[in-house]
Amino acid sequence: LSSRASTILSSLDISTTDEVPGVYDGQWGGSGEVITSICPTTGEILARVKTASPHELSEVLGRTREAYTVFRDVPAPRRGEIIRQIREALAAKVRLHLGALVSLEMGKIKTEGVGEVQEFIDICDYAVGLSRMMNGRIVASERPGHSIFEVPNPLGVVGVISAFNFPVAVYGWNLALSMAAGNATVWKPSHTTPLCSIAVTNIVSRVLESNGIPGAVAGLVTGGRDAGSAIAESRDIELVSFTGSEHVGKIVGKTVMSRFGKTILELGGNNASIVMPDADLSLAVPSVFFGAVGTAGQRCTTTRRLYLHRDIAPEFLERLQTLYATVKPADPLADNTLLGPLHSHAGLKTYNDTIEHLRSIDAEILTGGDRYTEAPLDAGNFVQPTIAIPKSVDPTDHIWKKEAFAPILNVAIFDKLEQAIQWNNAVPQGLSSSLWTRNMQNLGKWIGPSGSDTGIVNVNVGTSGAEIGAAFGGNKSTGWGRESGGDAWKQYVRWSTCTINFSNNAPLAQGVNFPA
Ligand code: NAD
Repeated sequence: LSSRASTILSSLDISTTDEVPGVYDGQWGGSGEVITSICPTTGEILARVKTASPHELSEVLGRTREAYTVFRDVPAPRRGEIIRQIREALAAKVRLHLGALVSLEMGKIKTEGVGEVQEFIDICDYAVGLSRMMNGRIVASERPGHSIFEVPNPLGVVGVISAFNFPVAVYGWNLALSMAAGNATVWKPSHTTPLCSIAVTNIVSRVLESNGIPGAVAGLVTGGRDAGSAIAESRDIELVSFTGSEHVGKIVGKTVMSRFGKTILELGGNNASIVMPDADLSLAVPSVFFGAVGTAGQRCTTTRRLYLHRDIAPEFLERLQTLYATVKPADPLADNTLLGPLHSHAGLKTYNDTIEHLRSIDAEILTGGDRYTEAPLDAGNFVQPTIAIPKSVDPTDHIWKKEAFAPILNVAIFDKLEQAIQWNNAVPQGLSSSLWTRNMQNLGKWIGPSGSDTGIVNVNVGTSGAEIGAAFGGNKSTGWGRESGGDAWKQYVRWSTCTINFSNNAPLAQGVNFPA
């Protein structure tokens, strides 16, 4: 193991010599298949992780259920106090160490790795407040001497199946709300980022144990498809919060629905930025640059489609290409790196296949289109951010309608805003979109009934990067899920509508008469 990797793993108390246990339910274990964690920058094996055997998997689910029956009776503000302690444990130095591990294992640059841990800290703050504000309602009854209460109770067990590209924050979003709501949570992280999940679970479990709370309130099962399927199928899991591809989301969604479980689905994005002639290009150009190139194009909210008004298209593209020319791929942990590697060989394949397809349909490739092959980049999955102009602007063509999880930006030119909105809405996905304009009428159209149909609808803000205070999620094949702020917490509780009769009579609703 390189000394750098060893330092990062040791700073988070992860063993650098043995196989690392990847299952936690109050105790660490793992006697199933061994998976490897590979550094996308250097190709080095960071660790071998012992995942859960099928028997262990069902034991963990059983312990998580038991932990729920304890945790649901802990008063919500006391649960909030435990979340506050998790927040403290994540802050200060740990934030930097964990951020570095995200960069090491996932491949995103240092500032984004640390930013991801900050997102977990922010949602903890939010959930601490929430723990004193998860209020129900009192509803006026039509019957004399009656009251109706809508009461939020803990839901049960929440299963979180997460994607590789946010190996810490997505779990944080779910865990914080789930704990505030009084649930136990079991996490199945991406099989390619097991170390991030082990480090997080180490931190969270210590806080739980020091408070006398069963560790299985925040259980962990590393592993691949089988572990994910077990969670989707388990009748002991009330809510499955799934983040990942549309393809797997569809399988998980159907499985959970077939047993009448609840889901939150956060699936693929295919996000567009639309630039009007009155836009401030000094804001729009760098924002599109970050949206398309940041995280090497591996955010669900990455800008993948760019629709430029004909009047500003040449200038916009010239300025954007100038910025692309400044990108220097390098080690994501080095200061000032803006472009790290793709996370995996699967990502490389997506990139190569998409470029090949663009060439086969005679798209003009303005910049990029290749891997970086010189040393030391050849050891990692480094690819050139690419801007392409496909000949066809038909949004139902393969190149426009499919999310390619890589830094490839496709451009088309429009004449009327209505046309660009139609293109924006014509793809299956509906996560994020941006309009760049200074004109109030354009703005009104964009955010109104005939405007963008995505879950995140921005104006003069890029498609990528969201704050935890508002609900996050997308529509259509992105899955309609909402997480983080807004009303997202309401999905993590079991709502009871309770009608109470304080009177000496028992009238029926709607005046129904049924004499006995
Ligand atoms: P993926 O679908 O390959 O994997 C997601 C998770 O599902 C992993 O934990 C994986 O091990 C698990 N899994 C695989 N097969 C399974 C099965 N049959 N049953 C149950 N679980 C199974 O996705 P990925 O490549 O890790 O992540 C990239 C995708 O995630 C992109 O499409 C991206 O847009 C999406 N994403 C969406 C959001 C959002 O909020 N909308 C956020 C992040 C990532």
